[in-house]
Parts: sequence; structure tokens; C-alpha cells
Amino acid sequence: MTNKKIHLCLAHMNGNEMKYIQEAFDTNWVVPLGPNVDAFEKELESFVGRGKYVAALSSGTSAIHLALVALEVGHGDEVICQSFTFSASANPIVYQGATPVFVDSERDTWNINPELLETAIRQRISAGKKPKAIISVHLYGMPAKMDDILSIAAKYDIPVIEDAAEALGSEYDGKACGTFGQYGILSFNGNKMITTSGGGAVICPDEEAKKRMLFYATQAREAAPYYLHKEIGYNYRMSNICAGIGRGQMTALESHISHHRHARDMYAALLADTDGIEVHGNPSEKHNSNFWLTTITINPAKTGTDCDTVRKHLETTGVESRLLWKPMHTQPVFKDAPQFTNGVSEQLFSQGLCLPSGPCVSDEDLEFVVSGIKSCLKPHS
Ligand SMILES: *Cc1c(COP(=O)(O)O)cnc(C)c1O
Repeated sequence: MTNKKIHLCLAHMNGNEMKYIQEAFDTNWVVPLGPNVDAFEKELESFVGRGKYVAALSSGTSAIHLALVALEVGHGDEVICQSFTFSASANPIVYQGATPVFVDSERDTWNINPELLETAIRQRISAGKKPKAIISVHLYGMPAKMDDILSIAAKYDIPVIEDAAEALGSEYDGKACGTFGQYGILSFNGNKMITTSGGGAVICPDEEAKKRMLFYATQAREAAPYYLHKEIGYNYRMSNICAGIGRGQMTALESHISHHRHARDMYAALLADTDGIEVHGNPSEKHNSNFWLTTITINPAKTGTDCDTVRKHLETTGVESRLLWKPMHTQPVFKDAPQFTNGVSEQLFSQGLCLPSGPCVSDEDLEFVVSGIKSCLKPHS
């Protein structure tokens, strides 16, 4: 028995955060810009590499929104979006007055299915609605097949926005997720790989694009001695206090990533002998997930139980688990959106579970979670 709670992915402060926050107070930089913001951006730029420029913003959602603004997505346009994701991937499409077109997943990565993506593009083009952008997601940190996605996008000349909100530290073909598309998006919300309490960033191809992002993020103010506006702007910049937390978190990012991978490997080892439970893993050498959350699928026919029964049981033992994201094409709010489906995300949703994986989860916790799962199994003898 244990009385302690085991959470999915609780934020973990390492102590360096306070140093940077104190510095901000001492120098009176308590505003949505400042030395911590500049330094945090530089640290993210060197982490993701490939000569990219990073703009720190108030959330991952605002980062997706500004990427759509920068790509001039507007009223009446259509944007293709991976259906199997969190609603924040798709909501900004609607903020712009555009329509999301949802595309289902492939079985191995759980991310957008490249063949179905091409089908969707062709179908929308023949309906006279060429998509203005493609939003692909690295779900639970698992890299999408970026080479296939980029080559289809290039063939039809459609820009890609890469939602890497869950994938800081994940790599595809040895390169950081978020650096493949025209724009990449990161999130530093409370339960992501690192937190700024709330925050996000957009990864930009060059300095000019970053300047453009910062222009929109700070109310689209033109260079003039008075407040001159020629375009609609937003208040989306990251605060210098939040960036201080981010700088402290960056000092532990590598250890967070190895801990998440360790949790996944340990779950896989502990569940290896369990028929009907699959631990999601890298499908090829090119994929190197950060395993933000370890995810499993539970086959009811083989295990005699199901994901929601397991979730409820774990809850009674103080363990937080969570069903997978409910696909966007099945959400009431998006019921009228065009959709290209193949049953994969709906099947995953009906069988999948996210397990505690964050920096506060110990090896004993992992064993406790697995014994809780195993106690639900009623395999046929
Ligand atoms: C968390 C998340 C976002 C949004 O990030 P916020 O910082 O919470 O606004 C977007 N997409 C995905 C896939 C996410 O998991």
C-alpha cells in the first residue's frame, strides 16, 4: 500500500529556476521581454540546432496561431491537420476563420498517415480548395515520418507547421523535431518536457521570419514615434519571469529526456511477458522519441480487460493515467470539418492509455504502476 500519488508528468523544479527569477526581480525586468527571454531563446536555438531562430511566446497554442498568421491563412481557407492530437493543434485554424481538414494516423508512429495525407490534398485540390498549410504532430513525442510528409508537401507546394509541443528532445533521422517544417512549435506548459509555468515557442527558418513573429506577438506595432498599426497584432510574447523558469529548466532538459526514455524502457521490460499489452516504441532506427508519456495499448480480447477499467483501477491506487487524445474528427466541435479517416486513431483511442512518465516518477513507482495494470488482467486459461 502507498498513500502517495503518482502523476503522469508533474513539473520538476531543480533550483536553478529561482536564480534566474531573482535576477529578473533584482534588475526590474518584470515584463514580457528581457535578458531571460533573449537567453532562453538562444539556449533553445542551440538545443534544436540547424541554424534555426526561436521566438519565445506565451503558449504553444499562440505559437501555432502565429505560424498560421505568418503563412497568411485566412477566412475561408483550409488547413490540413493531424486528427489524432490535442485540440490545441487545430483550434488556431478556426481562430483564423479557416476550416481544419482532419487526416487520420498510421499504425506505427500514430502520426499523420502520409498516403492519406496525399489523398486528402488531391481531393481538396479537385474540390477547388487547395490547403494553405499542413499541421503535422509528433504525438507523445514520437517523431512523424518527416521525409515522406515533406516530400508530399513539396510536391504540392504546401508549407508544413510541425507541432512539436510534446517532442522537445525527440529526433528524426538525427535531427531535432520541430526543425523540419517551415515553422515548428514547442510548448512549455505545466506537464510538458520542460515548463515555464505556461509558455511556448515558434521555431523559425531565419532571422527575418523570427522578427515577423515578434512583430505579431507584440501588437504589430510599426516603427514610428507613436503607436502606428497597419496589421492586426497579438499579445503573445513570453514574460521575462517565465523565461527565467525556462532557463532553469534547460539545465535539466537532458536528464529529463533520459529519464522519460528510461521510464519507457522499464515499462517495456516489465510488460514484455504480458500478452495483449503493447508498449509504444520507436518503429525504426530513424525514430528517437523523447517518450514524453509512455503509452500502451490493451487488447481486450487477449487481456480480458480494457483501458478505461485499468485507468479507473489505477486511480483507486493513487496512480494517474489518461486515455489517449480523442481524435479531432470525432469531437462534437469539429463534426462538420472534412475528414480523411482509416480507423487507426479511433482504434488507438479505444485501446490506449498514457502512463506516469515524468521526472518525479521513480523505478519503484513504475513497478507499482505495472503491478496495478497486471492485477486487472483476466487472460483466458
Ligand atoms: C500542449 C500541446 C499544445 C499546446 O500547447 P500550450 O502551451 O498548452 O498552448 C499543442 N499541441 C499539442 C500536441 C500539445 O500537446
